[in-house]
Amino acid sequence: MSSYTKQIMVKRIHEASFSGVGNVKPGPCKLIVQCLFEYKLMNFVVDSVNNAEYMSMSAWKGHTSRQIDNIERRKWLTRVPMFRKLVVLKDCLSNAVWPWWTFLQYYPKYTKCCKTMIRLIVGEHGLACNTSLWRNMRHTSRRCQLCNMYVIENVCHCLLECPICKEALNQLWIDLETCCPRALVMCMKAMNDRDVVVFWLSGFKCSFVFEWPVLYQVICTYIHKTYRIRIDKKNEIDPL
Ligand SMILES: [Zn+2]
Repeated sequence: MSSYTKQIMVKRIHEASFSGVGNVKPGPCKLIVQCLFEYKLMNFVVDSVNNAEYMSMSAWKGHTSRQIDNIERRKWLTRVPMFRKLVVLKDCLSNAVWPWWTFLQYYPKYTKCCKTMIRLIVGEHGLACNTSLWRNMRHTSRRCQLCNMYVIENVCHCLLECPICKEALNQLWIDLETCCPRALVMCMKAMNDRDVVVFWLSGFKCSFVFEWPVLYQVICTYIHKTYRIRIDKKNEIDPL
């Protein structure tokens, strides 16, 4: 940016800080000022100009990207409840950086398992809780057809509650006791079923932990197998 352009930009920003974006003349300056207001950066920029405290380019980029990320994430989270199928996704992403992408970079042979997990997170699965969303499904009941519990077949039921997964689930807890820190196992056992599902699908609500590859492998393999067994059984009962 030439010094002449900088002067115009600073002048426009200064004017806009008093009179609002509506009074700025149409053009690139107006677009920039609109962005500053939209992402709540205006006060920050005006303070910098007024106090002549100019930060480095990398610090500015870091600050703006964090601010944009926060605001876009908040907007997105307010839209998510309108889509019933995204109910798990909302809980998985609000608290954690999603580490499964990192896991896959180092262990690509678990791609199928992670694909299944993503399907469960974003609601693009074949469980009966999605029945009313899929027009071409023949049955409208959302009840689990594989047990007598008379409950909705959702992700939580599929992975933890349904009797058909009990044997694999017991084995999973045994495996977890051998590969997982004891405190973490106790923490998981103290959670309710829904929190456990969200905890697993969100990658334990933290960044990828390089010391725990076996833990990721055990969890994603269990989830993939349990889901596939269920879908195969449903197809046997009611082939399309
Ligand atoms: Zn069931």
